Amino acid sequence: MHQYGLSSPSQNARNNASIAPVKVFSAKVSSSNVGMVLVKPKLRQRGIWGSQRRNASLKMPVMRNIVILTGAGISAESGISTFRDANGLWERYRIEDVASPDAFRRDPDTVHRFYNLRRAQLSSVQPNAAHLALAALERGWTEGDFLLITQNVDDLHERAGSQKLLHMHGELLKLRCDGCEAVIRHDGDAGTDMACTACGRRKTMRPDIVWFGEVPFGLDQTSKALLQADIFAAIGTSGMVYPAAAFAERAKFNGRGCVTFEINPEPTGALVFDQLIAQPATLGVPAFVAAVSHPLGTP
Ligand SMILES: [Zn+2]
Repeated sequence: MHQYGLSSPSQNARNNASIAPVKVFSAKVSSSNVGMVLVKPKLRQRGIWGSQRRNASLKMPVMRNIVILTGAGISAESGISTFRDANGLWERYRIEDVASPDAFRRDPDTVHRFYNLRRAQLSSVQPNAAHLALAALERGWTEGDFLLITQNVDDLHERAGSQKLLHMHGELLKLRCDGCEAVIRHDGDAGTDMACTACGRRKTMRPDIVWFGEVPFGLDQTSKALLQADIFAAIGTSGMVYPAAAFAERAKFNGRGCVTFEINPEPTGALVFDQLIAQPATLGVPAFVAAVSHPLGTP
């Protein structure tokens, strides 16, 4: 183990005078997962870390709205299978057979079996340090609005304590009636023989999951939050593809000087991100939370 602080390999000597070591980004990492934390000098110059708070004479209200997007990477560290896993749950299924409305019409039993397996997997996993850090950030966030948007369909954010949470791709623990649109919580196996508890019809209950060709949930809420965001972070999701890149772009150019973070052990290098924390979520998220909770110069 070794401790490292700010790593800024791309910075040249010209910039060094303005870049003090940033303790908030310090993290203990093992030699096997050493990452980099890049903090661009403009962050300090623009005072994003709350320089207003350090200068009492300004007496300006510090409102900072935060929007966070999480993806498969944060759940993978809890042991949730991802589509990319070899020998994972997904390997036995072809995505086109289980994740589209057409697939459900063709073979609803197979689709239900697949989601029953994924639902059952929830009982064997626990929220990790990244989920817990985000829940703690939300609890302590009094400086502005907070919204956590997740692409994940598991319930690990809820179990960690997150409340201002939007599942843009739906939830494993919910079923929806194709007949009356009722959404019910369901934590056991589901099948085509189930009756809708709202309208009584059978063969209408489907996983409340956003499949290919369907519109993600909460896009209006997401759009509004991104337009008001002062801090945006994409965690454990590819920064080059939708939605991370699109969300980051919307936030970055919202006219509020929003600072955008990517937390990803395999960073994509997307230019839309101001800050990169090249670590697994369980290391990078606590560092990010510490950074935005205790900006430079504050206790
Ligand atoms: Zn119904």
